[in-house]
Amino acid sequence: MALTGLQIQKLLPKTNCKECGSNTCLAFAMKLAAKKAELSECPYASDEAKKILGAASEPPVKGIALGPEKNLKLGEETVLYRHEKTFVHQTVFAVNINDNDNPQTIEKTLASVRDYLLERVGEKLRVDMVCVTDKSGNSAKFAAICAKAYEVTKRPLVMRSLNPANLAAAAQAVKGSNSVIASATPKTADELRKVADENGHVLALTARISTSFQLFPPSSGTADSAISS
Ligand code: SF4
Repeated sequence: MALTGLQIQKLLPKTNCKECGSNTCLAFAMKLAAKKAELSECPYASDEAKKILGAASEPPVKGIALGPEKNLKLGEETVLYRHEKTFVHQTVFAVNINDNDNPQTIEKTLASVRDYLLERVGEKLRVDMVCVTDKSGNSAKFAAICAKAYEVTKRPLVMRSLNPANLAAAAQAVKGSNSVIASATPKTADELRKVADENGHVLALTARISTSFQLFPPSSGTADSAISS
């Protein structure tokens, strides 16, 4: 958890020697709290201060690695907005298909995901993931479309269903893809956690929200709230 400037100041030598470039230890502590300075700029910081401040500056969001090579990274961010500092990992782009879409549409969309490449100022932008939504309610169909999406694109998936049995079937069908199972509710969390562990996927969590706005899916009154490994 982030510490305040006053809490940080208590961990500093309080000699106001100015070697860090600040006039006082408190001023330096304020900069540390605002993430505008690094503790290493104070040559006299104790081991205890390093330990406590190191733990406090750990990213509040755990990192996850997706994809067969685990090279698509998410999380480990310490800020909510880019202007506060910087994002550690780039935003991931996904394209959605529904398992009851026309088969030709699915083929075409998956081929586009696989082949799309945009080069811009030296960067290569691709579609990073495929989201497969269970609209059919049919476990075998959902798992088959997930398997096809992975086979064609070799991208990690977001397997999206409200039915835990359908999610389990899809998770098994794309074992090794290091995808996302979306989503577990408080009732299905234990069961789906096991499915995620057995098949090497990460698990998205859904929770009911009490305010009047709803994020996803609108019909169920729930919001996708977090991803845990
Ligand atoms: S270098 Fe360390 S001890 Fe000196 S003023 Fe800065 S924070 Fe305080």
